[in-house]
Amino acid sequence: MTSTTSTPPASNFLRTIIEQDLANGTYSDKRWAGKPGPASVQKQGALDTARIRTRFPPEPNGHLHIGHAKSICLNFGLARDYGGACHLRFDDTNPEKENDEYVNAIIDTVKWLGFSWEFQTETNLYYASDYFDYLYEFAQALIRSGDAYVDEQTSEQVRATRGTLKEKGVNSPWRDRPAEESLALLDEMRGGKHPDGSLILRAKIDMGSPNMNLRDPALYRIRHAEHHRTGSKWCIYPMYTWAHPVEDALEGITHSICTLEFEDQRPFYDWILEKLAALGQLNHPLPHQYEFARLNLSYVVTSKRKLLMLVQEGYVSGWDDPRLPTLVGLRRRGYTPEAIRLFCERLGVSKSSSHINHNMLEQALRDDLDPKADRRIAVLDPVKLVITNYPEGQTERCVAPSNPHNPDSTSREFPFSRELWIERDDFLENPPKKYFRLFPGNTVRLKYGYTVKCTGCLKDENGRVTEVHAEYLADTKSGSAGANAVKVKGTITWVSAAHAIRAEVRLYDRLFTDPHPDSGNKNFLDSLNPNSIQTVQGWLEPGTHADPGSLWQFERLGYFIADTIDSTRERPVINRAVTLRDAWI
Ligand code: ATP
Ligand code: MG
Repeated sequence: MTSTTSTPPASNFLRTIIEQDLANGTYSDKRWAGKPGPASVQKQGALDTARIRTRFPPEPNGHLHIGHAKSICLNFGLARDYGGACHLRFDDTNPEKENDEYVNAIIDTVKWLGFSWEFQTETNLYYASDYFDYLYEFAQALIRSGDAYVDEQTSEQVRATRGTLKEKGVNSPWRDRPAEESLALLDEMRGGKHPDGSLILRAKIDMGSPNMNLRDPALYRIRHAEHHRTGSKWCIYPMYTWAHPVEDALEGITHSICTLEFEDQRPFYDWILEKLAALGQLNHPLPHQYEFARLNLSYVVTSKRKLLMLVQEGYVSGWDDPRLPTLVGLRRRGYTPEAIRLFCERLGVSKSSSHINHNMLEQALRDDLDPKADRRIAVLDPVKLVITNYPEGQTERCVAPSNPHNPDSTSREFPFSRELWIERDDFLENPPKKYFRLFPGNTVRLKYGYTVKCTGCLKDENGRVTEVHAEYLADTKSGSAGANAVKVKGTITWVSAAHAIRAEVRLYDRLFTDPHPDSGNKNFLDSLNPNSIQTVQGWLEPGTHADPGSLWQFERLGYFIADTIDSTRERPVINRAVTLRDAWI
């Protein structure tokens, strides 16, 4: 599983549905005016050249996370594979929590993941708030046709009369009021004459329906709130379940793909669209909603509310903290768009929800980086190794492949000298069995350098090793004729002390110790991992330029990235993206 080259995508139930729709010509009569709009606009358009239309509809109330990546890869991927268009639509119908900073970050992130909302000459970037006028007109049409009414009950009364799964609901006393009254009241609601929560517009469906979502659901509520795009123009805002089908229809979406929680909303989705089509507001063919299982990843939380809390209360350094499952965080951690797409591809698409092990995300990163990341040596917990029989001041050139798994890669060079940095745990004065690294009397290979024989160590007054001593065996240099003359069981990495580059290295671990930090009644803050970041001062191979975003494999240690915010060549700051092997099994 080391290849990221494109293999044909695995089939799934959504692909099957799309292929059937294409074979049956379900959408072949669909007209598209080149921009969103109701029937009157669309019927003037030509036949739609996009064979399907999907959409990714984030609410700009937070940053995107790995769960969103699944939906992005799915929607944009299907459109790409079937000659269609995928719209990026900001579902900004909830004024209080939305803002432009999130809008811009989401745009950047979807682009970074490698997707585009351009289709032929179209730029399919939309805002639900641009449809507020249409939604209002459609609501009026529903009132006129007897399919909606303004309810004056309090929110407690509305809740109390909704019924239960076993009991039917009770009709509102305002349910059969004349359409003119509801129209006038809706107009007053819009005009700001009523306080928040005093009136709602409801669809008139069936208070006895076994599906609770069809018991006269709300369409509009009053919210005297400033909107990030429409300002104070509106003080009524559409409910998500009302706005969403309309947004899809105005945009000519064919396959509206959402997560399973919305399955019970599908009858309402269809009810709205059929009504509006019957009223001449929308054209057939109408969008259809399909549901798939959301991504639940172990050891993370993805609820935006919880992520916001971690950020606001300072448990992490920001939305882009490398420990968060946000896409800006994963990016800073060293995740590549290719790795995230590979992960989403491997996830597949299904209708049964399950928890995905975090290892799977990490493995996708290793598999993506293995063939492309240049190798370097770093020593993160350094202790001096002195080659006592090597002349002071002398250096020798060592050559190593930049990437042994990439036949096109070049080689790199670095000096060998008398004093080296090695990892502290590569020396033990009294080793256990099967320890093949340095201990007095043992011979090991210094990777790409010489074979050395350990002769002892120096210690401080606390017994801590301060210096390890060894003698090199002449004629054993890697690449030379005698390299394999002396057999060794251990190979260790090193950097020349006089030449190595000092670096701050941030060793990240999982943010939570519990695989399901927020399941059941658990408080996710209780399982925060106190050791989720450890900062060390290490040494890097000479020639390792820590320009922000540079990625390497540090041999034996893992994949690392120069931090995109804090790193410079002069003062490298390096993040550990992932270890070479999984330490959690
Ligand atoms: P919140 O945490 O506020 O519930 P959300 O994740 O629902 O946020 P949206 O902005 O509404 O956020 O999501 C945009 C799209 O991403 C939706 O279509 C949603 O279905 C999809 N999505 C969100 N989370 C996941 C997930 N974990 N797996 C797959 N798709 C997801
Ligand atoms: Mg949501």
